Amino acid sequence: MKVLLVLALISLAALASTRKPLAARYDNFKVYRAYVKDSEQLEEFKKIHQHIQVHILHEIGGPNRSYDVIVGPLFQRTFEQVLNDLEVAYDVIVEDLQALLDESPVDEDAPMDWETYHPLDVIYDWVDEQCDEHDYLECKVIGHSYEGRPIKSVRLSKREGNKAIVIEGNIHAMEWISSATVTFILNQLINSEDDDIQRLTEEFDWIVVPMVNPDGFVYTHEVERLWRKNRRPNGYTNSSGPCYGIDMNRNFDYHWSGAGWGIEDPCDHWFGGDEPNTEREILALQDFVSSFDDGYIRAYLAFHAYGQYVLLPYGHTNTEFPPNYDQMMRIAAAFADGAVDAFGSVFTYGASGLLNYVVSGAAKDWAYGVKDIPFTCTVELRDKGTFGFFLPSNQITEVGVEVTEGLKSLVAKAADEGIFD
Ligand SMILES: [Zn+2]
Repeated sequence: MKVLLVLALISLAALASTRKPLAARYDNFKVYRAYVKDSEQLEEFKKIHQHIQVHILHEIGGPNRSYDVIVGPLFQRTFEQVLNDLEVAYDVIVEDLQALLDESPVDEDAPMDWETYHPLDVIYDWVDEQCDEHDYLECKVIGHSYEGRPIKSVRLSKREGNKAIVIEGNIHAMEWISSATVTFILNQLINSEDDDIQRLTEEFDWIVVPMVNPDGFVYTHEVERLWRKNRRPNGYTNSSGPCYGIDMNRNFDYHWSGAGWGIEDPCDHWFGGDEPNTEREILALQDFVSSFDDGYIRAYLAFHAYGQYVLLPYGHTNTEFPPNYDQMMRIAAAFADGAVDAFGSVFTYGASGLLNYVVSGAAKDWAYGVKDIPFTCTVELRDKGTFGFFLPSNQITEVGVEVTEGLKSLVAKAADEGIFD
């Protein structure tokens, strides 16, 4: 009897240790889009989460903007009431978030493709396979995340003396379309037989870091689909306990000006830290970029979601512009022209401080301002708000194709403009 009990306990323990944490579900959660007009409304809107449980998906960047907010069934009535009291107009853009997420299920065992979203292991296994099969790829682990996961890089170089383009993916954990697109591009560069793409790989080197935030990404798969930051305990607590994570695209050191606009809660999803350059993931990325000779890297593209923008430096101001801003605008225009021809997706381009809002600490500003890379940008991928952060997986391939077309056109224009000279 005793033996049986012990055996039963052992098998229970084995079961427990192999079981993954249960991912949060969003049954009957709605996504609202709230249109905040003036500063007075904004001040009140910012405080909503102090009263009821809501998840604001957008960084508070000022009035005259819309903010997407996830609200569970328990709080929907109160939330609507608060918005009505504040005279903030709103739409319900997703009626049942779980139903929408279920349209893009993740099969953990499915081999890599660009029809579905994949977990980290599948993405990394595919990267390793490519590295094994092609001797012109130089693959390196550039560092490790807070929880010890590798951050992998692939450098494609077929000719001595080429200049390089850096592509960075998934620094924001929940933006799955980012690493899906970055690996789509990498796959095209390696395996496409299209002459234009092959020429891109003969004439330029490509440095790809598909997953800057592996801890956050794994967390979005296993626990909370809507996580944005990394997973380092940031030293603060709020009423729900310890705060985790730093928004790593607010932590780069160029005109860094605090945690961001209006951060009052260090548990916020866009908390940029107490000081810049605190996160080991972005330090690894910075060291890696800095390990190359000056002048070798000529373009730096960071992929994000959503909104269909090519955001140029600067982020920290909307009254000062980079010395070669006009040139960067012409190159960004070329990307937009190439991309729109594929499926009609319109990309808007301009300084992020103008198009988005004034906020500092982004990779593209560091790459431009500190590393002197003459063309840098953040590409906000599809869509323009229909699905927002929950872009269904049946759009991955189209996004990959339109961005590849945009890139072809961008690189050609950048070459014309002398960026690679
Ligand atoms: Zn992002």
